[in-house]
Amino acid sequence: MLATIDLRSQPLGARQLRAVLPRAEYDVEAALDAVRPISDDVHDRGAAALYDLAERFDGVRPSSLRVPQEVLEAAVDTLDPAVRTALEVAIERTRAVHADQRRTDTTTDLGGGGTVTERWAPVERVGLYVPGGRAVYPSSVVMNVVPAQIAGVGSLAVASPPQKENVGVFAGYPHPTILAACALLGVDEVWAMGGAQAVAGFAHGFEDEASGERGECLPVSLVTGPGNIYVAAAKRLLKGIVGIDAEAGPTEIAVLADATADPEHVAADLISQAEHDPMAGSVLVTDSTELADAVAGAVERRAAATKHSERVGEALSGRQSAIVLVDDLDAGLRVVDAYAAEHLEVITADAPAVAARVRSAGAIFVGAHSPVSLGDYVAGSNHVLPTGGSAAHSSGLSVQSFLRGIHVVEYSEQALAEVAPHVLALSEAEDLPAHGEAVTARTGEALR
Ligand code: NAD
Repeated sequence: MLATIDLRSQPLGARQLRAVLPRAEYDVEAALDAVRPISDDVHDRGAAALYDLAERFDGVRPSSLRVPQEVLEAAVDTLDPAVRTALEVAIERTRAVHADQRRTDTTTDLGGGGTVTERWAPVERVGLYVPGGRAVYPSSVVMNVVPAQIAGVGSLAVASPPQKENVGVFAGYPHPTILAACALLGVDEVWAMGGAQAVAGFAHGFEDEASGERGECLPVSLVTGPGNIYVAAAKRLLKGIVGIDAEAGPTEIAVLADATADPEHVAADLISQAEHDPMAGSVLVTDSTELADAVAGAVERRAAATKHSERVGEALSGRQSAIVLVDDLDAGLRVVDAYAAEHLEVITADAPAVAARVRSAGAIFVGAHSPVSLGDYVAGSNHVLPTGGSAAHSSGLSVQSFLRGIHVVEYSEQALAEVAPHVLALSEAEDLPAHGEAVTARTGEALR
Protein backbone atom coordinates (compact mmCIF):
# COMPACT_ATOMS: atom_id res chain seq x y z
CA MET A 1 0.00 0.00 0.00
CA LEU A 2 2.69 2.51 1.04
CA ALA A 3 5.27 3.12 -1.69
CA THR A 4 8.95 3.12 -0.73
CA ILE A 5 11.34 5.90 -1.71
CA ASP A 6 14.90 4.74 -1.16
CA LEU A 7 17.21 7.70 -0.60
CA ARG A 8 20.07 5.69 0.88
CA SER A 9 23.47 6.57 -0.57
CA GLN A 10 21.94 9.62 -2.27
CA PRO A 11 23.18 12.84 -0.71
CA LEU A 12 20.42 15.08 -2.04
CA GLY A 13 20.19 18.82 -1.34
CA ALA A 14 17.03 20.57 -0.13
CA ARG A 15 15.88 21.45 -3.65
CA GLN A 16 16.31 17.90 -4.99
CA LEU A 17 14.67 16.48 -1.87
CA ARG A 18 11.60 18.64 -2.39
CA ALA A 19 11.28 17.21 -5.90
CA VAL A 20 11.39 13.56 -4.81
CA LEU A 21 9.43 13.72 -1.56
CA PRO A 22 5.76 12.74 -1.70
CA ARG A 23 3.17 15.52 -1.63
CA ALA A 24 -0.47 15.82 -2.63
CA GLU A 25 -1.30 17.63 -5.84
CA TYR A 26 -3.58 20.32 -4.54
CA ASP A 27 -4.64 22.75 -7.22
CA VAL A 28 -6.30 25.64 -5.38
CA GLU A 29 -6.04 27.73 -8.56
CA ALA A 30 -8.38 25.30 -10.38
CA ALA A 31 -10.95 25.49 -7.58
CA LEU A 32 -11.01 29.29 -7.97
CA ASP A 33 -13.20 28.87 -11.06
CA ALA A 34 -15.80 27.03 -8.98
CA VAL A 35 -15.58 29.51 -6.14
CA ARG A 36 -15.71 32.83 -8.02
CA PRO A 37 -19.42 32.59 -8.98
CA ILE A 38 -20.27 31.44 -5.45
CA SER A 39 -18.53 34.45 -3.94
CA ASP A 40 -20.12 36.83 -6.48
CA ASP A 41 -23.55 35.38 -5.73
CA VAL A 42 -23.12 35.95 -1.97
CA HIS A 43 -21.85 39.46 -2.64
CA ASP A 44 -24.82 40.27 -4.90
CA ARG A 45 -27.70 38.45 -3.21
CA GLY A 46 -26.53 38.03 0.41
CA ALA A 47 -28.68 35.72 2.54
CA ALA A 48 -30.83 34.57 -0.43
CA ALA A 49 -27.69 33.19 -2.07
CA LEU A 50 -26.56 31.51 1.17
CA TYR A 51 -29.86 29.59 1.42
CA ASP A 52 -29.65 28.46 -2.21
CA LEU A 53 -26.00 27.42 -1.86
CA ALA A 54 -26.73 25.46 1.33
CA GLU A 55 -29.42 23.56 -0.55
CA ARG A 56 -27.10 22.92 -3.49
CA PHE A 57 -23.90 21.93 -1.66
CA ASP A 58 -25.10 20.70 1.72
CA GLY A 59 -28.42 19.21 0.64
CA VAL A 60 -30.51 21.14 3.17
CA ARG A 61 -32.13 24.60 3.43
CA PRO A 62 -31.79 25.99 6.98
CA SER A 63 -34.87 27.68 8.48
CA SER A 64 -32.60 30.57 9.51
CA LEU A 65 -28.92 31.23 8.85
CA ARG A 66 -28.17 32.30 12.41
CA VAL A 67 -28.46 29.44 14.87
CA PRO A 68 -31.02 30.48 17.55
CA GLN A 69 -29.77 30.73 21.12
CA GLU A 70 -32.19 28.03 22.32
CA VAL A 71 -30.75 25.61 19.74
CA LEU A 72 -27.22 26.28 21.05
CA GLU A 73 -28.48 25.59 24.57
CA ALA A 74 -30.28 22.42 23.47
CA ALA A 75 -27.01 21.21 21.95
CA VAL A 76 -25.29 21.44 25.34
CA ASP A 77 -28.25 19.80 27.10
CA THR A 78 -28.25 16.81 24.75
CA LEU A 79 -24.47 16.45 24.54
CA ASP A 80 -23.06 13.05 25.48
CA PRO A 81 -21.53 13.53 28.98
CA ALA A 82 -18.22 11.90 27.99
CA VAL A 83 -17.91 14.21 24.98
CA ARG A 84 -18.80 17.20 27.17
CA THR A 85 -16.07 16.32 29.65
CA ALA A 86 -13.58 15.76 26.82
CA LEU A 87 -14.43 19.14 25.31
CA GLU A 88 -14.08 20.81 28.69
CA VAL A 89 -10.64 19.24 29.16
CA ALA A 90 -9.67 20.33 25.63
CA ILE A 91 -10.85 23.89 26.35
CA GLU A 92 -9.01 24.06 29.67
CA ARG A 93 -5.70 22.75 28.32
CA THR A 94 -5.87 24.80 25.13
CA ARG A 95 -6.62 27.91 27.22
CA ALA A 96 -3.66 27.19 29.51
CA VAL A 97 -1.22 26.94 26.60
CA HIS A 98 -2.62 29.89 24.68
CA ALA A 99 -2.77 32.16 27.74
CA ASP A 100 1.03 32.00 27.76
CA GLN A 101 1.07 33.40 24.20
CA ARG A 102 -0.34 36.78 25.26
CA ARG A 103 1.80 39.69 24.14
CA THR A 104 2.70 42.63 26.30
CA ASP A 105 3.29 46.11 24.91
CA THR A 106 6.96 47.10 24.79
CA THR A 107 8.38 50.62 24.82
CA THR A 108 11.90 51.29 23.56
CA ASP A 109 13.51 54.48 24.87
CA LEU A 110 15.78 55.89 22.14
CA GLY A 111 17.06 58.74 24.33
CA GLY A 112 16.35 62.46 24.60
CA GLY A 113 12.63 61.91 24.84
CA GLY A 114 12.17 59.66 21.80
CA THR A 115 10.19 56.46 22.27
CA VAL A 116 8.67 53.75 20.10
CA THR A 117 6.02 51.53 21.63
CA GLU A 118 4.73 48.34 20.08
CA ARG A 119 1.10 48.16 21.10
CA TRP A 120 -0.77 44.90 20.55
CA ALA A 121 -4.39 45.31 19.52
CA PRO A 122 -6.82 42.47 18.82
CA VAL A 123 -8.54 42.26 15.45
CA GLU A 124 -11.98 43.70 16.16
CA ARG A 125 -14.21 41.20 14.39
CA VAL A 126 -13.29 37.72 13.15
CA GLY A 127 -15.06 34.88 11.32
CA LEU A 128 -14.01 31.40 12.37
CA TYR A 129 -14.60 28.52 9.96
CA VAL A 130 -15.27 25.05 11.34
CA PRO A 131 -15.35 22.32 8.68
CA GLY A 132 -18.25 19.94 8.45
CA GLY A 133 -18.35 18.21 5.09
CA ARG A 134 -16.89 14.73 5.31
CA ALA A 135 -16.51 14.77 9.10
CA VAL A 136 -17.46 17.22 11.84
CA TYR A 137 -14.83 18.90 13.95
CA PRO A 138 -15.93 20.25 17.34
CA SER A 139 -12.21 20.24 18.19
CA SER A 140 -11.72 22.90 15.49
CA VAL A 141 -14.19 25.14 17.34
CA VAL A 142 -11.89 25.01 20.36
CA MET A 143 -8.73 25.59 18.28
CA ASN A 144 -10.19 28.68 16.56
CA VAL A 145 -12.15 30.23 19.40
CA VAL A 146 -9.69 29.91 22.30
CA PRO A 147 -6.82 31.93 20.77
CA ALA A 148 -9.25 34.57 19.47
CA GLN A 149 -10.81 34.97 22.90
CA ILE A 150 -7.45 35.12 24.65
CA ALA A 151 -6.25 37.74 22.15
CA GLY A 152 -9.25 39.83 23.24
CA VAL A 153 -11.20 39.79 19.96
CA GLY A 154 -14.41 41.68 20.74
CA SER A 155 -16.73 40.24 18.11
CA LEU A 156 -16.43 36.65 17.06
CA ALA A 157 -18.63 34.58 14.73
CA VAL A 158 -18.45 30.88 13.84
CA ALA A 159 -19.67 29.30 10.58
CA SER A 160 -20.06 25.61 9.82
CA PRO A 161 -21.98 23.76 7.10
CA PRO A 162 -25.62 22.82 7.78
CA GLN A 163 -26.02 19.05 8.17
CA LYS A 164 -28.78 17.33 6.23
CA GLU A 165 -28.84 14.42 8.71
CA ASN A 166 -29.76 16.69 11.66
CA VAL A 167 -33.24 16.15 13.09
CA GLY A 168 -35.59 17.92 15.53
CA VAL A 169 -34.52 21.36 16.73
CA PHE A 170 -31.15 20.88 15.04
CA ALA A 171 -32.61 20.35 11.53
CA GLY A 172 -30.82 22.52 8.97
CA TYR A 173 -28.14 23.71 11.39
CA PRO A 174 -24.48 22.68 11.88
CA HIS A 175 -23.75 19.45 13.73
CA PRO A 176 -25.05 19.56 17.36
CA THR A 177 -21.57 18.76 18.75
CA ILE A 178 -20.19 21.83 16.99
CA LEU A 179 -23.05 23.92 18.38
CA ALA A 180 -22.39 22.54 21.86
CA ALA A 181 -18.69 23.36 21.62
CA CYS A 182 -19.60 26.94 20.64
CA ALA A 183 -21.98 27.23 23.59
CA LEU A 184 -19.44 25.79 26.05
CA LEU A 185 -17.00 28.47 24.89
CA GLY A 186 -19.59 31.23 25.26
CA VAL A 187 -19.90 31.88 21.51
CA ASP A 188 -23.44 32.95 20.62
CA GLU A 189 -22.99 34.03 16.99
CA VAL A 190 -23.08 30.85 14.92
CA TRP A 191 -24.08 30.70 11.25
CA ALA A 192 -25.29 27.74 9.23
CA MET A 193 -23.11 28.23 6.18
CA GLY A 194 -20.26 26.17 4.77
CA GLY A 195 -17.51 26.13 2.17
CA ALA A 196 -16.68 29.10 -0.04
CA GLN A 197 -20.04 30.74 0.63
CA ALA A 198 -19.23 30.97 4.36
CA VAL A 199 -15.94 32.77 3.65
CA ALA A 200 -17.77 35.12 1.24
CA GLY A 201 -20.57 35.68 3.78
CA PHE A 202 -18.03 36.69 6.41
CA ALA A 203 -16.08 38.88 3.98
CA HIS A 204 -19.05 40.81 2.61
CA GLY A 205 -21.54 40.58 5.48
CA PHE A 206 -25.27 40.07 4.90
CA GLU A 207 -28.68 40.47 6.49
CA ASP A 208 -30.95 37.47 7.08
CA GLU A 209 -34.58 38.38 7.73
CA ALA A 210 -35.48 34.87 8.88
CA SER A 211 -33.03 35.26 11.80
CA GLY A 212 -34.97 38.27 13.11
CA GLU A 213 -33.16 40.89 15.20
CA ARG A 214 -30.03 38.74 15.31
CA GLY A 215 -29.92 38.42 11.52
CA GLU A 216 -27.22 40.93 10.62
CA CYS A 217 -23.80 39.41 9.96
CA LEU A 218 -21.39 42.34 9.89
CA PRO A 219 -18.35 41.93 7.64
CA VAL A 220 -15.32 40.53 9.49
CA SER A 221 -11.70 41.69 9.24
CA LEU A 222 -10.16 38.21 9.44
CA VAL A 223 -11.26 34.68 8.53
CA THR A 224 -9.44 31.74 10.12
CA GLY A 225 -9.83 27.99 10.27
CA PRO A 226 -9.23 24.86 8.27
CA GLY A 227 -11.41 23.58 5.44
CA ASN A 228 -11.39 21.82 2.09
CA ILE A 229 -10.08 23.09 -1.25
CA TYR A 230 -13.15 25.33 -1.80
CA VAL A 231 -12.57 27.04 1.55
CA ALA A 232 -8.90 27.50 0.63
CA ALA A 233 -9.82 28.89 -2.80
CA ALA A 234 -12.33 31.32 -1.29
CA LYS A 235 -9.66 32.54 1.13
CA ARG A 236 -7.28 33.10 -1.80
CA LEU A 237 -9.98 34.92 -3.76
CA LEU A 238 -11.12 37.17 -0.93
CA LYS A 239 -7.74 37.86 0.64
CA GLY A 240 -7.41 41.62 0.63
CA ILE A 241 -11.08 42.16 1.37
CA VAL A 242 -10.48 40.10 4.51
CA GLY A 243 -7.32 38.90 6.23
CA ILE A 244 -6.81 35.13 6.34
CA ASP A 245 -4.75 32.84 8.53
CA ALA A 246 -3.59 30.42 5.82
CA GLU A 247 -4.86 28.40 2.91
CA ALA A 248 -4.97 25.03 4.62
CA GLY A 249 -4.38 22.01 2.40
CA PRO A 250 -4.96 18.34 3.17
CA THR A 251 -3.54 17.17 6.48
CA GLU A 252 -0.11 15.54 6.69
CA ILE A 253 1.90 13.49 9.12
CA ALA A 254 5.59 12.68 8.88
CA VAL A 255 7.20 10.28 11.35
CA LEU A 256 10.96 10.29 11.85
CA ALA A 257 11.68 6.96 13.51
CA ASP A 258 14.58 4.59 14.12
CA ALA A 259 14.75 0.91 15.06
CA THR A 260 13.61 1.67 18.63
CA ALA A 261 10.12 2.75 17.47
CA ASP A 262 7.15 0.43 17.90
CA PRO A 263 5.87 -0.36 14.37
CA GLU A 264 2.28 -0.71 15.61
CA HIS A 265 2.39 2.82 17.05
CA VAL A 266 3.88 4.24 13.87
CA ALA A 267 1.29 2.46 11.70
CA ALA A 268 -1.58 3.62 13.91
CA ASP A 269 -0.37 7.22 13.70
CA LEU A 270 0.07 7.16 9.91
CA ILE A 271 -3.49 5.84 9.57
CA SER A 272 -4.91 8.34 12.06
CA GLN A 273 -4.16 11.26 9.75
CA ALA A 274 -5.01 9.34 6.54
CA GLU A 275 -8.50 9.03 8.03
CA HIS A 276 -9.13 12.78 7.44
CA ASP A 277 -9.08 12.85 3.68
CA PRO A 278 -8.19 10.68 0.63
CA MET A 279 -5.65 13.44 -0.16
CA ALA A 280 -4.06 13.29 3.33
CA GLY A 281 -0.33 12.52 3.34
CA SER A 282 1.35 9.96 5.64
CA VAL A 283 5.11 9.68 5.44
CA LEU A 284 7.54 7.55 7.44
CA VAL A 285 11.22 8.54 7.34
CA THR A 286 13.49 5.90 8.80
CA ASP A 287 17.01 4.52 8.74
CA SER A 288 15.79 1.05 9.72
CA THR A 289 14.65 -1.37 6.99
CA GLU A 290 13.33 -3.69 9.72
CA LEU A 291 11.07 -0.93 11.04
CA ALA A 292 10.02 0.02 7.49
CA ASP A 293 8.98 -3.58 6.73
CA ALA A 294 7.16 -4.00 10.04
CA VAL A 295 5.30 -0.68 9.60
CA ALA A 296 4.31 -1.58 6.03
CA GLY A 297 2.81 -4.86 7.31
CA ALA A 298 1.04 -3.22 10.25
CA VAL A 299 -0.37 -0.49 8.01
CA GLU A 300 -1.86 -3.09 5.61
CA ARG A 301 -3.51 -4.94 8.46
CA ARG A 302 -4.76 -1.93 10.38
CA ALA A 303 -5.95 -0.02 7.29
CA ALA A 304 -8.11 -2.97 6.23
CA ALA A 305 -9.73 -3.11 9.67
CA THR A 306 -10.26 0.57 10.36
CA LYS A 307 -13.72 2.17 10.05
CA HIS A 308 -12.86 4.55 7.19
CA SER A 309 -10.73 1.99 5.35
CA GLU A 310 -11.69 3.27 1.91
CA ARG A 311 -10.40 6.82 2.30
CA VAL A 312 -7.48 5.60 4.44
CA GLY A 313 -6.52 3.19 1.64
CA GLU A 314 -6.77 5.96 -0.93
CA ALA A 315 -4.65 8.34 1.15
CA LEU A 316 -1.96 5.76 1.90
CA SER A 317 -1.65 4.52 -1.67
CA GLY A 318 -1.70 8.06 -3.12
CA ARG A 319 1.44 9.81 -4.37
CA GLN A 320 1.45 11.92 -1.19
CA SER A 321 2.24 8.97 1.12
CA ALA A 322 5.38 6.82 1.34
CA ILE A 323 8.08 5.22 3.43
CA VAL A 324 11.35 7.09 2.88
CA LEU A 325 14.54 5.12 3.61
CA VAL A 326 17.59 7.12 4.66
CA ASP A 327 21.15 6.23 5.68
CA ASP A 328 20.98 7.65 9.19
CA LEU A 329 19.11 10.15 11.39
CA ASP A 330 21.16 13.08 10.10
CA ALA A 331 19.90 12.31 6.61
CA GLY A 332 16.41 11.81 8.07
CA LEU A 333 16.53 15.28 9.59
CA ARG A 334 17.47 16.77 6.22
CA VAL A 335 14.47 14.98 4.71
CA VAL A 336 11.96 16.14 7.33
CA ASP A 337 13.26 19.72 7.14
CA ALA A 338 12.87 19.74 3.36
CA TYR A 339 9.38 18.23 3.69
CA ALA A 340 8.31 20.70 6.44
CA ALA A 341 5.39 18.57 7.62
CA GLU A 342 2.25 19.95 9.17
CA HIS A 343 2.68 17.33 11.92
CA LEU A 344 6.03 15.69 12.63
CA GLU A 345 6.53 12.84 15.10
CA VAL A 346 10.02 12.02 16.34
CA ILE A 347 10.14 8.47 17.69
CA THR A 348 13.81 7.67 18.12
CA ALA A 349 16.32 6.99 20.86
CA ASP A 350 16.84 10.31 22.68
CA ALA A 351 13.87 11.81 20.83
CA PRO A 352 14.04 15.23 22.59
CA ALA A 353 17.60 15.78 21.33
CA VAL A 354 16.67 14.73 17.79
CA ALA A 355 13.50 16.88 17.86
CA ALA A 356 15.52 19.89 19.01
CA ARG A 357 17.43 19.70 15.72
CA VAL A 358 14.29 19.92 13.55
CA ARG A 359 14.01 23.33 11.84
CA SER A 360 10.76 23.05 9.87
CA ALA A 361 7.45 21.57 11.01
CA GLY A 362 4.02 22.90 11.95
CA ALA A 363 4.12 21.01 15.25
CA ILE A 364 6.55 18.41 16.59
CA PHE A 365 5.39 15.44 18.66
CA VAL A 366 8.26 14.06 20.69
CA GLY A 367 8.80 10.49 21.88
CA ALA A 368 6.74 7.34 22.07
CA HIS A 369 3.84 8.83 24.02
CA SER A 370 2.98 11.96 22.01
CA PRO A 371 0.87 10.88 19.02
CA VAL A 372 -0.53 13.51 16.64
CA SER A 373 -4.10 12.68 17.64
CA LEU A 374 -3.25 13.92 21.16
CA GLY A 375 -2.50 17.28 19.53
CA ASP A 376 -5.67 17.06 17.45
CA TYR A 377 -7.72 17.15 20.64
CA VAL A 378 -6.37 17.74 24.12
CA ALA A 379 -2.60 18.34 24.17
CA GLY A 380 -3.25 22.07 24.61
CA SER A 381 -1.38 22.92 21.39
CA ASN A 382 -3.27 24.24 18.36
CA HIS A 383 -4.27 21.85 15.57
CA VAL A 384 -4.70 24.48 12.85
CA LEU A 385 -1.23 24.17 11.35
CA PRO A 386 0.63 25.05 8.14
CA THR A 387 0.32 22.36 5.44
CA GLY A 388 1.88 21.64 2.06
CA GLY A 389 5.41 22.67 3.12
CA SER A 390 4.32 26.12 4.30
CA ALA A 391 5.75 25.28 7.73
CA ALA A 392 8.99 26.51 6.12
CA HIS A 393 7.68 30.07 6.50
CA SER A 394 4.51 30.03 8.61
CA SER A 395 3.20 29.03 12.02
CA GLY A 396 -0.03 27.50 13.19
CA LEU A 397 -2.96 29.39 14.60
CA SER A 398 -2.14 31.15 17.87
CA VAL A 399 -3.05 34.21 19.90
CA GLN A 400 -0.65 36.15 17.66
CA SER A 401 -2.85 35.34 14.63
CA PHE A 402 -5.57 37.56 16.14
CA LEU A 403 -3.34 40.47 17.14
CA ARG A 404 -1.95 43.45 15.29
CA GLY A 405 1.24 45.14 16.43
CA ILE A 406 0.89 48.92 16.16
CA HIS A 407 4.01 51.06 16.41
CA VAL A 408 3.39 54.20 18.43
CA VAL A 409 6.08 56.81 17.76
CA GLU A 410 6.52 59.75 20.15
CA TYR A 411 9.51 62.11 19.92
CA SER A 412 10.17 65.28 21.90
CA GLU A 413 11.46 68.48 20.25
CA GLN A 414 14.97 67.66 21.45
CA ALA A 415 14.83 64.04 20.23
CA LEU A 416 13.64 65.19 16.80
CA ALA A 417 16.37 67.82 16.57
CA GLU A 418 18.98 65.18 17.34
CA VAL A 419 18.08 62.99 14.37
CA ALA A 420 16.91 65.74 11.99
CA PRO A 421 20.18 65.81 9.94
CA HIS A 422 19.80 62.09 9.28
CA VAL A 423 16.21 62.49 8.07
CA LEU A 424 17.41 65.28 5.75
CA ALA A 425 20.32 63.23 4.41
CA LEU A 426 18.12 60.26 3.64
CA SER A 427 15.32 62.38 2.17
CA GLU A 428 17.85 63.95 -0.21
CA ALA A 429 19.32 60.55 -1.08
CA GLU A 430 15.84 59.34 -1.97
CA ASP A 431 15.01 62.58 -3.82
CA LEU A 432 12.05 63.18 -1.57
CA PRO A 433 12.82 66.69 -0.29
CA ALA A 434 9.33 67.24 1.13
CA HIS A 435 10.15 64.55 3.68
CA GLY A 436 13.04 66.66 4.93
CA GLU A 437 10.95 69.82 4.85
CA ALA A 438 8.44 68.22 7.25
CA VAL A 439 11.31 68.13 9.73
CA THR A 440 12.88 71.54 9.00
CA ALA A 441 9.43 73.10 9.32
CA ARG A 442 9.75 72.13 12.98
CA THR A 443 13.46 72.42 13.70
CA GLY A 444 14.35 75.39 11.48
CA GLU A 445 16.69 75.71 8.49
CA ALA A 446 19.92 76.06 10.45
CA LEU A 447 20.47 72.36 10.52
CA ARG A 448 22.94 71.72 7.75
P1 NAD B 1 -15.60 21.65 4.71
O1 NAD B 1 -16.54 22.20 5.72
O2 NAD B 1 -14.26 22.28 4.56
O3 NAD B 1 -16.31 21.71 3.29
C1 NAD B 1 -17.67 21.43 3.09
C2 NAD B 1 -18.20 22.45 2.13
O4 NAD B 1 -17.54 22.35 0.87
C3 NAD B 1 -19.65 22.31 1.83
O5 NAD B 1 -20.42 23.02 2.78
C4 NAD B 1 -19.75 22.93 0.45
O6 NAD B 1 -20.14 24.27 0.59
C5 NAD B 1 -18.37 22.91 -0.11
N1 NAD B 1 -18.33 22.09 -1.33
C6 NAD B 1 -18.40 20.75 -1.42
N2 NAD B 1 -18.36 20.38 -2.72
C7 NAD B 1 -18.29 21.51 -3.44
C8 NAD B 1 -18.21 21.79 -4.86
N3 NAD B 1 -18.20 20.82 -5.76
N4 NAD B 1 -18.13 23.07 -5.25
C9 NAD B 1 -18.12 24.08 -4.35
N5 NAD B 1 -18.19 23.88 -3.01
C10 NAD B 1 -18.27 22.61 -2.57
O7 NAD B 1 -15.49 20.09 5.06
P2 NAD B 1 -14.68 18.88 4.42
O8 NAD B 1 -14.98 18.74 2.97
O9 NAD B 1 -14.92 17.72 5.29
O10 NAD B 1 -13.15 19.30 4.52
C11 NAD B 1 -12.54 19.56 5.74
C12 NAD B 1 -11.05 19.60 5.52
O11 NAD B 1 -10.46 20.27 6.62
C13 NAD B 1 -10.39 18.23 5.42
O12 NAD B 1 -9.42 18.27 4.39
C14 NAD B 1 -9.70 18.06 6.76
O13 NAD B 1 -8.53 17.28 6.70
C15 NAD B 1 -9.36 19.49 7.08
N6 NAD B 1 -9.19 19.74 8.50
C16 NAD B 1 -8.02 20.28 8.87
C17 NAD B 1 -7.80 20.58 10.18
C18 NAD B 1 -6.53 21.25 10.56
O14 NAD B 1 -6.44 21.77 11.62
N7 NAD B 1 -5.53 21.29 9.72
C19 NAD B 1 -8.79 20.34 11.14
C20 NAD B 1 -9.99 19.81 10.74
C21 NAD B 1 -10.18 19.53 9.38
